[in-house]
Amino acid sequence: MVVDDNPFNLETLKLMIKQQFNIDVVKAANGEQAVKVFREKNIDHKKTCISSCKFPFYDLIFMDLNMPVLDGYQATEQIIALQKDQEHKCSIVALTAYQNKEALDRCTDIGMQEVLNKPAKSDAISQVIQKYCNLLKAV
Ligand SMILES: [Mg+2]
Repeated sequence: MVVDDNPFNLETLKLMIKQQFNIDVVKAANGEQAVKVFREKNIDHKKTCISSCKFPFYDLIFMDLNMPVLDGYQATEQIIALQKDQEHKCSIVALTAYQNKEALDRCTDIGMQEVLNKPAKSDAISQVIQKYCNLLKAV
């Protein structure tokens, strides 16, 4: 999933991931939308996947930090809370223009796996996907 309040950023990243990995990502325009979509899919996934279901429905979320309604920090905290009983959790990677150490440290403090600077370079995106996408590892 890609979460960003800027439609251009959303579309750019979606295309980049489609071209490189042929993965169709889901887009969310703010943190609230991201939590809503995540919650629904996670509930369905648990219902239909019984005990053999090892991996989370979403392997990876690219999360903008500065967004209206619910920002990237709040959305991340809520998404992590939704998975507290799960062994395998969705990885969350921040994508941000913020440069100050405080903002970046807060990302790892609340449980994000990594922080990437905007504009995201295709190499960096690619590395993160290969590292956290269980779908690709399974192939
Ligand atoms: Mg933003």
